[in-house]
Amino acid sequence: MFRSSSVAMPATVKLNTGAQMPIVGLGTWKSPPGKVTEAVKAAISAGYRHIDGAYVYENEAEVGEGIRAMIEAGVVKREDLFVVSKLWCTFHEKSMVRKGCEKTLSDLKLDYLDLYLVHWPMGFKAGNELFPLDSAGETINDSTHFLETWEGMEELVDAGLVKAIGISNFNKDQIEALLNKPGLKYKPANNQVECHPYLTQEKLINYCHSQGISVTAYSPLGSPDRPWAKPDDPSLLEEPQIKAIADKHKKTPAQVLIRFHVQRNVIVIPKSITPQRIQENFQVFDFELSEEEMKTIMGFNRNWRACPMQWSLKHKDYPFNTEF
Ligand code: NAP
Repeated sequence: MFRSSSVAMPATVKLNTGAQMPIVGLGTWKSPPGKVTEAVKAAISAGYRHIDGAYVYENEAEVGEGIRAMIEAGVVKREDLFVVSKLWCTFHEKSMVRKGCEKTLSDLKLDYLDLYLVHWPMGFKAGNELFPLDSAGETINDSTHFLETWEGMEELVDAGLVKAIGISNFNKDQIEALLNKPGLKYKPANNQVECHPYLTQEKLINYCHSQGISVTAYSPLGSPDRPWAKPDDPSLLEEPQIKAIADKHKKTPAQVLIRFHVQRNVIVIPKSITPQRIQENFQVFDFELSEEEMKTIMGFNRNWRACPMQWSLKHKDYPFNTEF
């Protein structure tokens, strides 16, 4: 299933659709609309061919501007790029799925997506509010089951709006439910989940790979700019052992954290709006972490999440109450 990552060449992961997904992509959550167009342009100039976005990031029009500027400048063709977006939780009813996807496509001004993910297994009340909350600060939920949402996703493939469909933040039981769905037409091609040394996801990754589902690691640097970060939270980029490994390879801690996924055949999508860091984060194909170093990095696991989606703990489909 996977084309192994050579040290010299930016690698891709082969999806169960046959498509090749570039193993390093640019994340765009929290990238302000006024900055993200330049970030996307800097990324494509640096060699990135994979851009990760979502409706809920509220910047897809500006992401699209960056993509189109580079296509118009002749730097890349649309077919050279791998563009990912995600169906937000307020569009889970089967009849709403197409509307969610079409909104993203019209914001991006693109005809199709390479991969469209169900952003979370939980549905929220439909409407203009992205996070409809009750007086207790908990999300107002929708009873639609994600198996129904999936049927809407399958229709997008048949309509030619998306080349592949997948999931995000699904646990093993939820994936299993999807794979066992009567009448399943398309298996998910990808599961995008939080993954970094504090949350190594060994069991979930092994399970997904055993089922032919590729995995993308989000928040690979520990998401230091997440809005709810607290001063006492652990900080991956400042871990002395990560710094020591980086120094040994004459690389930066961020490059080590990104390379860690490449060597596990896990796709990785670091976010940055800083051109120099965008370039740095792509320079991960010219060194190799030793088995010993990989083991040391795996040893950081403490099941710590940067993105626990704390407003939906009581949702029937909340994914993080199971072992993996
Ligand atoms: P992340 O990529 O782990 O970290 C981003 C932060 O690291 C930013 O503050 C960025 O700063 C900084 N940074 C980037 N490169 C750096 C470098 N070389 N050295 C030092 N600092 C560096 O966090 P994330 O945004 O949470 O995750 C990445 C992407 O995953 C998101 O953007 C999004 O596309 C996706 N995601 C998906 C989900 C989901 O539910 N599916 C959830 C979370 C994230 P600057 O930007 O200021 O340079």
